[in-house]
Amino acid sequence: MAKVESRKYSDRRQYLIAAVRARRKKVRHMAVEHKGGRCEICGYDRCVDALEFHHNDLSSKKFGISEKGYTRSWATVKDELSKCIMICANCHRELHAKLAASGGNSGVKSE
Ligand SMILES: [Zn+2]
Ligand SMILES: [Zn+2]
Repeated sequence: MAKVESRKYSDRRQYLIAAVRARRKKVRHMAVEHKGGRCEICGYDRCVDALEFHHNDLSSKKFGISEKGYTRSWATVKDELSKCIMICANCHRELHAKLAASGGNSGVKSE
C-alpha cells in the first residue's frame, strides 16, 4: 500500500471501496449458491449473511473466504471453497467450541 495518488485520492478511494464491496457481495452470493445455499449441519437457509465458511484443514488455508478472499478470482475462490464447509453462524460457533474443547488449535477468529 505504498502507492498513494494525491490527485482526487478520496474520490478514487471511495470508488474502490464501493467497487470492492459490490464484488464481495456478488462473489459471496455465488459462493453460497456453489455450496448449496444452506448450512451443511442443520440446514439453515433463511439468511445468507448468517452463513459462514469453515476450513476443514487450516494448514491449507490461503486466505479467509469472508474477508479479502472475495477480491480474488472466482476460480481461486471456488478452489478455496472445496476445502470448506458452509455452515450457519450458530453451528460455526458450536463447531469451534467443540474443536477448542477437544484441544485442537481451532483459532479464536472465525474463518
Ligand atoms: Zn447450522
Ligand atoms: Zn471455522
